[in-house]
Amino acid sequence: ATPTSIMAGSGRAAELGILFKGGEHLEKTQAVDTVVLDKTGTVTEGKPRLTDVAAASGMPEKELLQLLSAAESASEHPIAEAIVAGAQLQGAEPLKADRFEAFPGFGIYAMVEGREVLAGTRRLMAQHGIAIAKAQLDEMERLEEQGKTVVLAAIDRKLAGMAAVADTLKETSREAIARLQAMGIEVIMATGDNERAARTIAAEAGIREVRAEMLPEGKALEIKKLQEQGKKVAMVGDGINDAPALATADIGMAIGTGTGVAIETADITLMRGDLNSIADAIGMSRKTMSNIR
Ligand code: ADP
Ligand code: MG
Repeated sequence: ATPTSIMAGSGRAAELGILFKGGEHLEKTQAVDTVVLDKTGTVTEGKPRLTDVAAASGMPEKELLQLLSAAESASEHPIAEAIVAGAQLQGAEPLKADRFEAFPGFGIYAMVEGREVLAGTRRLMAQHGIAIAKAQLDEMERLEEQGKTVVLAAIDRKLAGMAAVADTLKETSREAIARLQAMGIEVIMATGDNERAARTIAAEAGIREVRAEMLPEGKALEIKKLQEQGKKVAMVGDGINDAPALATADIGMAIGTGTGVAIETADITLMRGDLNSIADAIGMSRKTMSNIR
């Protein structure tokens, strides 16, 4: 590889908002045959909205929202922000919470005016021995089939209801993924979100392979497994929870609007959130390297 052609390639890429941290990454990117995409904030906009609230009998919906949003006010997770904003829109005045505990990848715990609030996934409820009735499970699954993420809420150790949030695909995700597939690249989605919602979003985006309910170390392990099969893997993500996978991948690509940790860990920053930049980066690397040989 001549330094001049690498510099020219990096320059052309930069014009498209694709920032290679070093020339060696531009050389390596042409070998990528597998792309692992984070879901939230990568394939989707990453700005969920509160869409549904379902309270258990005996629990007024407004009270549920007040307690839930009070607990979520301590979390910076996009799901938490959606619930806090949605509760406010529905006129549920915030209650004061203290003593928070976050369970990354699962949810949150807080004391709200003397009551214990636990909010998050079915796994979080199972870990705390909180039962979910059949009707509630059915409701949860119905919402998940629509691609929504459901937050279960237990008050004083009893399931008191649930809230659902929905995120939308980026306008360009479907075409960008089709472009990668047309280049012969395998596309896989990896997410901490539940299996049903993940499958619905993946289908909308044209992705066939899905790994759901993954913890951050899980995403990195998944990439190691692909590498052991001889795959050259690019990971694309925006969150703190993507950092281990971005570091493990042959090429890590961070979305420019993502968290600092993701950008620092990655080899390439995609300044435009548009996933077309992935195919552009690989295409440019292929072109640069074929000019050299
Ligand atoms: P992702 O960003 O891919 O959704 P995370 O690892 O951040 O993955 O979270 C996994 C799941 O844990 C979320 O989809 C959600 O169901 C649950 N979760 C995480 N944080 C919270 C929170 N603050 N409140 C409620 N649920 C949460
Ligand atoms: Mg994300």
